[in-house]
Amino acid sequence: MKCYYHENREAVATCNVCGKALCPECADKYNVPLCGNCASTEVTEEKNRIKRNMMIGGGLIVAFIVWNIIMGGIPISSSMSIGTILELISVPFILVCAPFGWGALNRITANTFMILPLIGWLLYPIVKAMLSLYVGLVAAPVAVIKYLKLKSNIESVEMSR
Ligand SMILES: [Zn+2]
Ligand SMILES: [Zn+2]
Repeated sequence: MKCYYHENREAVATCNVCGKALCPECADKYNVPLCGNCASTEVTEEKNRIKRNMMIGGGLIVAFIVWNIIMGGIPISSSMSIGTILELISVPFILVCAPFGWGALNRITANTFMILPLIGWLLYPIVKAMLSLYVGLVAAPVAVIKYLKLKSNIESVEMSR
């Protein structure tokens, strides 16, 4: 099999997404073997996923603020303690990260869902939502770093062309 981009070179790998044959040079361009097309699709998809998650996170923050105003939970006054201020800063951060956690949990738990008894089906979303808050704190930075890496990877490949 010959490289998709270089007819005179023997292929050693295939694109992880579409399976195009790649020579050593083409296979090493990105962190994983990807053809040029799939690498740019991947980076666009990752970007859209991050955008979507941030929008959901923004929605959660709005819901959280509205909920607190209704419940009278945010004591906005001059006597705000350090603890309250820290909470007001950290809660939006946690909420923005949470959709990333949810997405990461989806990847892990997609099949376990099927074997749960009825009570599991009821508890599952609640437990998952709670776990998302913690997993998100790791999953969100990982997603952003992965995206930035691939993006700079693609840019440096395009520059060297
Ligand atoms: Zn491909
Ligand atoms: Zn090649």
